[in-house]
Amino acid sequence: MAIAGNSQVQDLLVVGGGVNGCGIARDAAGRGLAVTLVEKGDLAGATSSASTKLIHGGLRYLEHREFRLVREALIEREVLLRAAPHIIWPLRFVLPHHKGLRPWPVLRLGLFLYDHLGGRRILPPTRSLDLRRDPAGAPLQPHYRRGFEYSDCWVEDARLVVLNARDAADHGAAVLTRMRCLAARREDGLWRATLRDEASGATREVAARAMVNAAGPWVAEMLGAAGQNAPARVRLVKGSHIVTRRLWSHDRSYIFQNADGRVCFAIPYEEDFTLIGTTDEEFAGDPAGVAITEGETAYLCRAVSDYVRQPVTPADVVWSYAGVRPLYDDGASRAQEATRDYVLTLDAPAGQAPLLSVFGGKITTYRRLAEAAMARLAPHFPGLPGAWTAGARLPGGDFPWDGAPRLVAELRARYPFLDPALARRLVRQYGTRAGAVLGDADGMAALGEAFGAGLTAREVEWQRREEWVRSAEDLLWRRSKLGLRIDAAGRAALQRHLAGAMPAAGRAAE
Ligand SMILES: Cc1cc2nc3c(=O)[nH]c(=O)nc-3n(C[C@H](O)[C@H](O)[C@H](O)COP(=O)(O)OP(=O)(O)OC[C@H]3O[C@@H](n4cnc5c(N)ncnc54)[C@H](O)[C@@H]3O)c2cc1C
Repeated sequence: MAIAGNSQVQDLLVVGGGVNGCGIARDAAGRGLAVTLVEKGDLAGATSSASTKLIHGGLRYLEHREFRLVREALIEREVLLRAAPHIIWPLRFVLPHHKGLRPWPVLRLGLFLYDHLGGRRILPPTRSLDLRRDPAGAPLQPHYRRGFEYSDCWVEDARLVVLNARDAADHGAAVLTRMRCLAARREDGLWRATLRDEASGATREVAARAMVNAAGPWVAEMLGAAGQNAPARVRLVKGSHIVTRRLWSHDRSYIFQNADGRVCFAIPYEEDFTLIGTTDEEFAGDPAGVAITEGETAYLCRAVSDYVRQPVTPADVVWSYAGVRPLYDDGASRAQEATRDYVLTLDAPAGQAPLLSVFGGKITTYRRLAEAAMARLAPHFPGLPGAWTAGARLPGGDFPWDGAPRLVAELRARYPFLDPALARRLVRQYGTRAGAVLGDADGMAALGEAFGAGLTAREVEWQRREEWVRSAEDLLWRRSKLGLRIDAAGRAALQRHLAGAMPAAGRAAE
């Protein structure tokens, strides 16, 4: 193993700053490896900010008999909930029953399996609902009379990525954003990769004992850039979401089965909104240009309107996003049937530096994927310490899984000038580090320029120093969802602020 911090030869070069690349970088750095991670755009700039944001076993994967994946994912729900209770929390899902679904006893059995397959300690079990009496029935059309309610978890997907990057950096990794890996070649038992700074155009070379290709939708392109010519088994499947104003007042979510057999989630979102998704369509073309189509918007509106009393129309959509799942191509005929499990391939010719490539996977299983990746690479790093992330907290997550309300109260006691909504947001974003963001402030004015929705210069500076924020977009749509609340004038002011030089204080981002 190299000595961490040795800038000459890295142990591991990770290409891709999505959840899988950042998860692997964190795991490797925590075991003492010298790690460099490069991301060509922003952290979570691709698939990892475009998910449905569920830490879930995947109820419908049971139908596809993906028992290994479902079990691992179900176990992972509570592991991750304990590791990052600021950005992950329990959710209850209401499944309204109707004649088009599987019979009641079959669904009941499926949910029984879901409850028991993955060692559930915190999350409450499934129960039956009388939708004529339960408040969850109120937003639904009156012919929905009964249903089930089961547990899964919510995750702020893009923040999960940045917290993994932060933890990797805290363990000594170099995390370089806006840094593209152009090409890599094997030489003298090492990888030599050419990197290009996307802001300045400058190139540099880095040498590493092993390389991880976690380029998500670009995994095949990256294999080509590393001189691997075998066809990559990746299948790109697009999924889009829409966001409307909040459609109901209770805090539970719905899972609706559509006429085409797919499911659609409708989830309370960012306090004042509802998130609806997703679609499942084969995708060809440049993943960077993926966008929702009018057809998908209409499909999602229809999917929800089949269930709720007040129809949802495209005019109700206030925001939307789309992403591409980089699935492992298992030869399934339909996009929705392609496996969601992950596959790791290791190319390690004798005497040459290994290349590990990541296909597929879920946000939910990223930590297990990272452990599996390290297990595959371990023979190349004799003496490598064992797995460590199962019981470890992510930055700001060192408090009990249900302790957020208490943290909010403590924050407001320390900073009485914070209004309750801002205190809640800061705790949800930074957990136990919220106080470090605010520092010695004794009033809102002390936090500097205000951009709207409680965002101030002090928080922006934290984001630049600690979370690799470079542009307004990074902050408004990935480190937070303040883009839903901050108006054009606030966005322009933020952009101007970010164009200014970063104050000298604080640690460097790389
Ligand atoms: C619509 C949709 C809904 C989903 N919902 C869920 C869900 O609810 N729960 C769940 O668990 N999972 C969900 N997923 C799956 C999950 O989002 C993905 O499995 C996961 O985000 C993939 O992460 P990744 O790191 O492999 O890829 P990405 O997040 O795409 O990261 C790859 C990164 O590599 C970078 N990169 C590429 N090439 C280079 C290069 N040459 N140099 C430098 N950087 C490079 C890219 O810019 C990108 O940021 C969903 C996916 C989609 C699309």
